[in-house]
Amino acid sequence: MKQDIDNDNFPVYTIGVAANFIGVSVHALRMYETAGILSPKRTETQRRLYSKNDINRLQSVRHFIEEDGLNIAGIKTVLSMIPCWKLKPCNIEDRKKCDAYNKMGEPCWIVKTRGDICTDVDCRDCEVYLNVASCTNIKELTKQVYE
Ligand code: SF4
Repeated sequence: MKQDIDNDNFPVYTIGVAANFIGVSVHALRMYETAGILSPKRTETQRRLYSKNDINRLQSVRHFIEEDGLNIAGIKTVLSMIPCWKLKPCNIEDRKKCDAYNKMGEPCWIVKTRGDICTDVDCRDCEVYLNVASCTNIKELTKQVYE
């Protein structure tokens, strides 16, 4: 258990605590989730729990909004450009039928039509989602896969 708590992806913070950390309302966090920007862990009783990396993601979202002037649609477009097909990686046949590869506007963890490699996957455990924890990271991630 100690090991889990030390893991930055282990969900421990309630929505109230997470909102407090970021300095936004609980309503704003629910809105980000509905928009698909992030995906907090749900307990068996449907309680939301956030990890340290979720808090980092939320800080990135606030940065996009406050510093870069992006709205929710703009943030989703930025996230949709993460090359998940390189990170995973998936094969050409999977890419051909996947909305994350073919379309813009939605991050791969919320697209409805995906390749076989990504069906029945909990996105919270996926390396693509786990890697996208900050604005800097998105840029670094993209550089790595194309360099
Ligand atoms: S979301 Fe689609 S394009 Fe991205 S890795 Fe999965 S199958 Fe490939």
